[in-house]
Amino acid sequence: MSVHLEEMLAACKPYTQQGQLPSYIPALKKGDPKHLGVCLLSCDGQLIQAGDCGVQFSIQSIVKPILLLQALLDNGVDAVRAHVGVEATGKPFDAINYTDQVLDSQHLNPMVNMGAIAVCSLIRGSSYQERFHRLLALTRLLAGEDARIQVNEDVYRSEKASGNKNRALAYLLKTYGIIQDDVEEVLDCYFHACAISTDCVGLARIGCVLANKGCQPGSQDPIIPPEYARFVNAILTTCGMYDGSGDFAVRVGVPAKSGVGGGIMAVVPSRMGIGIFSPALDAKGNSLAGTRLLELLSRELNLSIF
Ligand code: GLN
Repeated sequence: MSVHLEEMLAACKPYTQQGQLPSYIPALKKGDPKHLGVCLLSCDGQLIQAGDCGVQFSIQSIVKPILLLQALLDNGVDAVRAHVGVEATGKPFDAINYTDQVLDSQHLNPMVNMGAIAVCSLIRGSSYQERFHRLLALTRLLAGEDARIQVNEDVYRSEKASGNKNRALAYLLKTYGIIQDDVEEVLDCYFHACAISTDCVGLARIGCVLANKGCQPGSQDPIIPPEYARFVNAILTTCGMYDGSGDFAVRVGVPAKSGVGGGIMAVVPSRMGIGIFSPALDAKGNSLAGTRLLELLSRELNLSIF
């Protein structure tokens, strides 16, 4: 793998000044908007990194594909698909605008908040604490190094105290019978999940398992079923970057997932996992300099799957 990461990083650094730190989770406001780091890990085990690669950050929505994987492992594809949809828009082809649609589970996408909260209720465990610990264990298994995956309790408490919109979404799910459990317990699991923290290397390692048909880099023994990796990658391609997924597909062209903590995990099928960190976000909640860096990398290494 030959690529001039330092030069690309320098070219993207000015973009860190154009984004904003999120303020709706007060703990995230404390981040340093100048941070920018990148790590590439190829399926045969080569690792290259540059910039602020060792800085820990909360993975936030990047936990959504891991939640989905845990739900698939616990229930299989059919049961998961019965609870959440896989469509990017959930709207019919002739829709003009929807103001008040009935909440239908097939309109829920596991890569956006409501769908991910519904997925929390699919994870097996006798308590929500146990469910969360199983999710954490899966995250550590995917990263291949326990110590690289931590939980940021400060971020967890901050979102639990301020996350009223997610609370409202979860109560709507309960109202429509999509979740049956105690709403506060489901939310507690979701907020804890979003507060899992790692660094660029950890993200690259998880992305690499998804890229490498469910196997760790350099291995051919799957640690998750390859068909689940493919399922998750397909959804990441259409909705991993929220309502910026179309723009991202055009500019970068690989399955990826962003989080409001500033991380982006990109999956280049059969080639590599990429972890990026830069906490200043664009208007859609995606890392601004991070997306730019992925665009340059995609061009340089011809990464687009399209
Ligand atoms: N915890 C965040 C939320 O629910 C995750 C959102 C994100 O990373 N885009 O709002």
